[in-house]
Amino acid sequence: METKIIKITDKAAPRDEELMEAAGILRQGGLVAFPTETVYGLGANALDEGAAARIYAAKGRPSDNPLIAHISCMEELPALVREIPEAGKRLAEKFWPGPLTMIFPKKSVVPDGTTGGLDTVAVRMPSDPVANRLIRLAGVPVAAPSANLSGRPSPTRAGHVVEDMNGKIEMILDGGEVGIGVESTIVDVSGPVPVLLRPGAVTLEMLKEVLGKVETDAAVLGPLGNGVKPRAPGMKYRHYAPKADMILVEGETSRVVGYINHETKKAVEAGKRIGIICTQESRALYPLGILAVVGSREHEETVAHNLFSVLRDFDGQAVDCIFSESFSDDRLGQAIMNRLCKAAGYHIIKV
Ligand code: AMP
Ligand code: MG
Repeated sequence: METKIIKITDKAAPRDEELMEAAGILRQGGLVAFPTETVYGLGANALDEGAAARIYAAKGRPSDNPLIAHISCMEELPALVREIPEAGKRLAEKFWPGPLTMIFPKKSVVPDGTTGGLDTVAVRMPSDPVANRLIRLAGVPVAAPSANLSGRPSPTRAGHVVEDMNGKIEMILDGGEVGIGVESTIVDVSGPVPVLLRPGAVTLEMLKEVLGKVETDAAVLGPLGNGVKPRAPGMKYRHYAPKADMILVEGETSRVVGYINHETKKAVEAGKRIGIICTQESRALYPLGILAVVGSREHEETVAHNLFSVLRDFDGQAVDCIFSESFSDDRLGQAIMNRLCKAAGYHIIKV
């Protein structure tokens, strides 16, 4: 299949003519990748089981890992969910449209093929003008996981989507670089107490400000033990992984730098190529290794924005091992650390 790539002229105010063909493809059961404010999504009609099946095939995604249904406005929500709990209403008022996904009890029109057989459905209303307008024009809710091959770092530019999806999907809308760079926060509001299932740009602190009590799912905090069934089924799979082994080094920064330099020197002497994920503040402290500066500790937004791109770039550099510095795990740092821990397969060294 030839994948048509359409460049959006003005991503802040896309013209309907540029989105019409994509909307038609979605309505007819085809696949379109499009930018959102978080990462690029791979869209299909969420109410069409066959279309959802094509998403799983294109991504190589395990079929029990459910999809998020995207809507363009609040009026589109009641068609998908049996109930909008009070917590859901309050979060929607505060954070929609935006980088927040909520889990609701699902109506039967949402097929099992979209939700991995669960009785709940994940819903998000993106604020990105291209994503939001595309969904409105399609006239159907759009199931859209990240537009990467399953397990690879999520795409933050159209070029990343081309790498993973060219020839497998009908169309890619190129809206340039995304803003946030990590996937949406996921909160389950279907039970008595809201539960954070995946950290993102809407932070735990921000959720608590609106809701008071919010629990955090065990899968956010660390690897799941054998036999534990995660509430966000996607959590059990290896994610965001670069091709090289990756080791996350935690501790006070000068000790982290010391450890990484020591290990890098040994590895380089043994003929290995080493990648190092560091920050603006520490870049000058590494004499060896291939450096990727992910941003400044003073601006965690830039770290989130660059994270997946840095992980992908290492795949082109044929490094044998990547060492990464770590970040504080509050606010946006929680989302950054969650992605880094998964990218490293929880290979974490505390120094
Ligand atoms: P992705 O689309 O790749 O960003 O991943 C979507 C995430 O949403 C996965 O981790 C899923 O497990 C999670 N998810 C989707 N639907 C549900 C649901 N009904 N209940 C819990 N988690 C869900
Ligand atoms: Mg994903």
